Amino acid sequence: MGIPLLDLKAQYAGLKDELDAVWHDVMGNAGFIGGPKVKALEEQIATYCGTEYAVACANGTDALFLIMASLDIGMGDEVITTPFTFFATVEAIAHVGATPVFIDIEPGTYNMDVAKLEAAITPKTKAIMPVHIFGQCVDMDPLLEIAQRHGLIVVEDACQAIGATYKGKRAGSLARAAAFSFFPSKNLGCAGDGGIITTDDVDLAAKCRKLAQHGTSKKYYHDAFGTNSRLDSLQAAILSVKLPHLDDWNAQRRAAGSYYDEALAGTDLALPVAREFGDAVYHLYIVKAADADQATKVMAALGEAGIGTALYYPLCLHEQEALATLPGYVRPSLPEAESCNSRTFALPAFPGITREQQDEVVRVVKEALAR
Ligand SMILES: *Cc1c(COP(=O)(O)O)cnc(C)c1O
Repeated sequence: MGIPLLDLKAQYAGLKDELDAVWHDVMGNAGFIGGPKVKALEEQIATYCGTEYAVACANGTDALFLIMASLDIGMGDEVITTPFTFFATVEAIAHVGATPVFIDIEPGTYNMDVAKLEAAITPKTKAIMPVHIFGQCVDMDPLLEIAQRHGLIVVEDACQAIGATYKGKRAGSLARAAAFSFFPSKNLGCAGDGGIITTDDVDLAAKCRKLAQHGTSKKYYHDAFGTNSRLDSLQAAILSVKLPHLDDWNAQRRAAGSYYDEALAGTDLALPVAREFGDAVYHLYIVKAADADQATKVMAALGEAGIGTALYYPLCLHEQEALATLPGYVRPSLPEAESCNSRTFALPAFPGITREQQDEVVRVVKEALAR
């Protein structure tokens, strides 16, 4: 019968009437770009995240890029980030002409190891880009303290972490600005690409908005070189239908995670570590095999049983070929991150997954481990 890694068809079935109504409404009004639906979504996301402003754009990658460009981060600047993230994080840094500097990660959370941060700061460091990977916040207080002491800007890549909390505050409200993605498989996904920026900084919000519209503040007058990065009103309307369900979906992901935590305790697999400072939203439930062969074996067994799985991530960013093309790039040695290559993979933990489905996943995993 099969168990997907994520069941978006079931999610649509649950909201079909509302989502279909939105589609007909947008088609009937023929207002496809921007407009009141996008404005409404921006207000809803700002309220949800606890920020003053939200600026919608075309995708999460652009959200990161627009923030970096608006903060005048560029040539000659270093930005400290994690090697264990989706490539877009480092693309945004490289595309503004800045240099990514990688520090190692913590075991278990797979997040940037803040204890390694200060040693990576140089006179060229301008910003830090923590990524709340797999939906768990980075330990932000010590990070922000270091940033403040050194006069550094902090930008959150919150693309996997909408709804996650840190000491009572939501991801997206923890630093100068944050980027979110509404890619369909994210915890809050639209029916295509979408993204948003959150910030309390009025000038930064205005600059991001301007750069997302060809550097325009007044139609057909351009005072900067920007880009075209807009959110469709259809996507905004879909997201407004889904947003009220997000907390419930995230709670279901957490419950699925706790179930695996118990069921897989004592096996050879290293289970994800949940830090006490907030609620993670389990964008992915990631386990780490003892070695790459064991990961291959378990993943093959899952595949044969029709159970969705994938490596996150097969290869760290500091080891990617693209990085070697950056002028003067010296590949760092980051043993903890490198130990994840071909070893960390996801188990299905989507909202709506049943206990029976999880039991089946656990059975297949345990059988494969015993082989
Ligand atoms: C998905 C993702 C992005 C990019 O978002 P897109 O909407 O796909 O452009 C950036 N960073 C992280 C950590 C992501 O997971």
